[in-house]
Amino acid sequence: MNYDLLLLAGDGIGPEVVAQARRVLEAVDTRYELGFTFSEANIGGIAIDKEGAPYPPSTQKLAREADAILLGAVGGPAWDGLPAADRPERGLLAIRSDLDLFCNLRPAMLFPELAQASSLRSDLVAGLDILIVRELTGGIYFGEPRGINTREDGVREGVNTDRYDENEIRRIGRLAFEAAKKRNGRLCSVDKANVLEVTMLWREVLESLSKEYPEVELSHLYVDNAAMQLVRAPKQFDVVVTGNLFGDILSDIAAMLTGSIGMLPSASLNAHSRGLYEPVHGSAPDIAGQNLANPLATILSAAMMCRYSLQLNDIADRIDRAVASVISQGLRTTDIASNGKDQNSLAPVGTTQMGDAVIAALGKE
Ligand code: NAD
Repeated sequence: MNYDLLLLAGDGIGPEVVAQARRVLEAVDTRYELGFTFSEANIGGIAIDKEGAPYPPSTQKLAREADAILLGAVGGPAWDGLPAADRPERGLLAIRSDLDLFCNLRPAMLFPELAQASSLRSDLVAGLDILIVRELTGGIYFGEPRGINTREDGVREGVNTDRYDENEIRRIGRLAFEAAKKRNGRLCSVDKANVLEVTMLWREVLESLSKEYPEVELSHLYVDNAAMQLVRAPKQFDVVVTGNLFGDILSDIAAMLTGSIGMLPSASLNAHSRGLYEPVHGSAPDIAGQNLANPLATILSAAMMCRYSLQLNDIADRIDRAVASVISQGLRTTDIASNGKDQNSLAPVGTTQMGDAVIAALGKE
């Protein structure tokens, strides 16, 4: 079997964290003869600088051919002055849309040893295991009309449109029910159906789908309440399904519950399980190039890639276990170091040392 893997390192800490994930993938490839072939292409700010567009045609060609894609992060101050339509982040929206990656899976799991690093009390978060299913190619990030217009009275107005049709809601809803079925059988749909018609339809479609999944208990929360519940009693959640905008915000809240955004992987899938895998965090320009970035979110994203697109569940489990092992050994990058609160933690390590430790742990598997 051969797997063509495309690496899109992007900007800021992207190249540093993708380099470590590549080393991990190369290590399992060498050991288990998996037949990985790697190619690289530009996305985001670096693609704007080198090829004039955040998702250039050369990248698009490779992305369409690849079996799976691992991405670092895009964006940074160098491109902040560009008009919205030309910014690095547009590259992300373009690749998701081009490959029809409508389903974003964001697990928020708390490694027991990192409960101290969470912004909440340990008893509220210990054992946390939430899966956020976010719709990724529709809603207000893509809806037309959009723009900043000058009205006849000379006043400028900004416009965006939140739009979902029932087919889009049904396909993401179905994946969320399927995920809940494989986990603890609870699905919470998040909307704003007391105010927004688009989410009234969302709720109606989810309700009608639930008849096909009697084993899954469906509940609904308004997004403001969901945000509150996530910080009040997060362990009540199993699977959460929501639209693009609410999912963007709620998954960052869930990220903080786990102690560090540097620990969270994600998968974006299309209907054929082809996918783009990336850490939840951004390009962290404040620490770029200093060997300070936590590579574990990207390494865990590589594990998700093995699981969801390459059907290499055993390899995915091995990588997950190797990450758990380095955490239990006390290795911490600065973002998850606990300022002396954790008796077991050692002095913080850098990006490459964390990669070395994961590879060493894999070798002991
Ligand atoms: P960010 O996630 O880049 O950083 C937020 C904070 O978390 C920073 O203090 C950063 O140092 C820290 N951090 C993030 N990842 C880390 C890691 N792996 N290890 C250690 N610390 C880490 O978010 P931001 O500062 O709001 O955005 C910076 C840039 O990234 C912006 O240009 C933004 O548009 C872009 N961004 C890109 C993506 C993406 O590529 N998917 C996502 C979010 C933001």
